[in-house]
Amino acid sequence: MEPMKIKIITAFAALLLPLSIASSANATAIKQTKGDFEDKFRQLEEVLPTPNVYRNAAGEPGENYWQQQVDYKINVTLDEEKRRLIGSEKITYQNNSPYKLKYLWVQLDQNIFKEDSIASMTKTFSGDSPSAFSSDGGKPAKLSLNTLRRQQFLADNEVGYEISAIKDSRGNALSFTLVGTQMRIDLPKPLKSGDDVEFSIDFAFNIVEEDAVSARSGYEKFKDGNDIFLLAQWFPRLHAYTDYEGWNNKEFLGRGEFTLEFGDYEVEINVPADHIVSSTGVLTNPKDVLTKTQRNRLKQAKTAKRPVFIVTEEEALENEKEGTDKRKTWVFKAENVRDFAWASSRTFMWDAKGYKQGGKVQDHVMAMSFYPVEGGDLWKKYSTESVIHTMEVYSRYSFDYPYPTAQSVNGPVGGMEYPMITFNGPRTELRDDGSRTYSQAEKRFLIGVVIHEVGHIYFPMVVNSDERQWTWMDEGLNSFLDGVAGREWDPTIPWGVEPRDITGYMKSQNQVPIMTQSDSVLRLGPNAYTKPAAALNILREVILGRELFDFAFKEYSERWMFKRPTPSDFFRTMEEASGVDLDWFWRGWFYSTDHVDISIDKVYQMRLDTHNPDVDYGRLRQIEADKPSSLFVERNKAEGKKLWVDENQDVTDFYDENDRFTVTNKERNKYKKFLKGLKPWERKTLERAVKEDKNYYVLEFSNVGGLVMPILLELTYKDGSTESQYIPAEIWRRTPKQVSKLVVTDKNKELVGVTVDPGWETADVDIENNHYPRQIIPSRVEAYKAKKRSGKVHRDIMHDIKTELKSDEDEKEKKDQ
Ligand SMILES: [Zn+2]
Repeated sequence: MEPMKIKIITAFAALLLPLSIASSANATAIKQTKGDFEDKFRQLEEVLPTPNVYRNAAGEPGENYWQQQVDYKINVTLDEEKRRLIGSEKITYQNNSPYKLKYLWVQLDQNIFKEDSIASMTKTFSGDSPSAFSSDGGKPAKLSLNTLRRQQFLADNEVGYEISAIKDSRGNALSFTLVGTQMRIDLPKPLKSGDDVEFSIDFAFNIVEEDAVSARSGYEKFKDGNDIFLLAQWFPRLHAYTDYEGWNNKEFLGRGEFTLEFGDYEVEINVPADHIVSSTGVLTNPKDVLTKTQRNRLKQAKTAKRPVFIVTEEEALENEKEGTDKRKTWVFKAENVRDFAWASSRTFMWDAKGYKQGGKVQDHVMAMSFYPVEGGDLWKKYSTESVIHTMEVYSRYSFDYPYPTAQSVNGPVGGMEYPMITFNGPRTELRDDGSRTYSQAEKRFLIGVVIHEVGHIYFPMVVNSDERQWTWMDEGLNSFLDGVAGREWDPTIPWGVEPRDITGYMKSQNQVPIMTQSDSVLRLGPNAYTKPAAALNILREVILGRELFDFAFKEYSERWMFKRPTPSDFFRTMEEASGVDLDWFWRGWFYSTDHVDISIDKVYQMRLDTHNPDVDYGRLRQIEADKPSSLFVERNKAEGKKLWVDENQDVTDFYDENDRFTVTNKERNKYKKFLKGLKPWERKTLERAVKEDKNYYVLEFSNVGGLVMPILLELTYKDGSTESQYIPAEIWRRTPKQVSKLVVTDKNKELVGVTVDPGWETADVDIENNHYPRQIIPSRVEAYKAKKRSGKVHRDIMHDIKTELKSDEDEKEKKDQ
């Protein structure tokens, strides 16, 4: 810390300083203001859409808010042999918009797999680029076998929708136009505001093998010939038509998911009679498809303490062996859902446990899991319990779980969500001794993915944000809340949403802001999941505090449940419900690629000048005496050099007795006159300050990362005590690159150290410059052995050519050992 002095200026003097002089002294600052100054606190209204009667300035649904309703009645048959779905849907489209519609747009997500889809045609080569061939071999490019498998699968199979008929309610064909993964259906006459129209679509498609093409749904082949079918994005679904965008007709490229209209569904699912079906909705014909024992077990499960098996492991294994030609039709009804998905397999075990939620919305929810024996103990113990835990926590922070069932299904899709049903990937591994085991990572993955996907039933399945446009609105919000729920399950599991988890990404190059359309986002994981989740955690824990944040977040959730929020509705609600101006926060975290890096550059320690020359000069003399003496003089002394003045001691004068800090009476008189000139209050203030003789510290900070944030300080004193200080982000409002802060402490509280963000709460990417004085950085080094040179000419062909050729038998033997 650098000692400095501070001088009091009287109010009188300060006020008299003419404005023009102040400006000219600040000339460089003004020039900067005109040059590269950036207002980090500029109002966000100029960026957000203008509020209107559909969504208001407070971030609420406006007085004339509307959304469409689309109801579906679907019959669908699963052809297990051909791995094919054949369906027919009757759609009722209710136009609640104030506008006339001449046509309707439908999403045909299965068409993404066609070779002429934009997604297929724009797939880029993702391997390492090849290096030029040389006589030395050259390095080959790398093409993964997964890429080859996908390419082979799509070459061998007809994929995409086969639409055989689109008819109006009287059976007349409707004309339609295919545009990639979308279809326009022209209505015979425009659909007026407030009217509805009924029409039907007959469709079929070959289901893709999930492991081959890596999609959001598909089948998984087991060795014994059985499959798990996960069916999602399987029926032609109406595009969203909204007040903010009209038809949301953006081509499905695979990443930007979807947004749909709410509606009621009745779906008849025809599958082999020995299949177990898990589905969105409530089973309406249990007597047709379940045995009496199974129905009794379901009843028992409602109030059970631990999950009850509806289909046990033994029953599932027995089921897998046989196969049947018989068929059964499972009928499900779902009200007010934005989509419908299901899963079917004869490998499924099934457990269930009721969740007594209470409340008026949905007093009782049935939590259920479906998995093959490969799920093992991992699923038996944790899946259904994780489903219930999610509802318990999410409901506290948003709204009561609004549906009668919540399901977790194991299958080839790593993690995906639909209303009331989720697909989750983790499994156990078979050991040689026949037992099943799983790693700690697999356990964490299961609990984490179930919480995450069930959480999605809230966001975006109920709070219906537009995933095709904004991945962060569902993934970011949901990752934030799954971290909250996760920490309440087991805080030792890394939930990946803490500020420290995002620093590497934040300082990386080639980024886009969070506010970027889903398909254009670079590095989806950190951009759309971790960064917004960490930002919301920081908003909650550092900036607003839990009470204000939780109130505002719940307000947002409740306002927009079963409705369609946009980013501005979120920003506005959080700001106006918390009562805190957050424009700078959204601007920095969501609209920019700046990162947090606040550096504590300098700390000055200052002592108040008393104006009394008898005191101040003495102090100055001491400061001078404390400086290291001249090395040259010391060395001369050591060499025994004699000084001229020592050898001629009779030649002296006044200045040999008095130094430059000698006080004169003229100065004492000036001091007296100064005191006399002070008004009574000024004199009192000065006298008190002189008496208290406090420590005045000026802390200089620079904002290296560009993102303005509160400065979290820990001050360490000579006596070993520490103190925390919170400086709101607004300190940066006029000088976003550098700020100074005055800290005043008692005389005996001498500062010895300053740390910025000691708890790593703000995602500050460079911890080194957070300490004053700087600290030594702990790190590691490893000794390594130089590698032998490899490549064609470095092989020992002379020797290796004589090696005996191994038979397949030898290889097998080696494996068995
Ligand atoms: Zn997700």
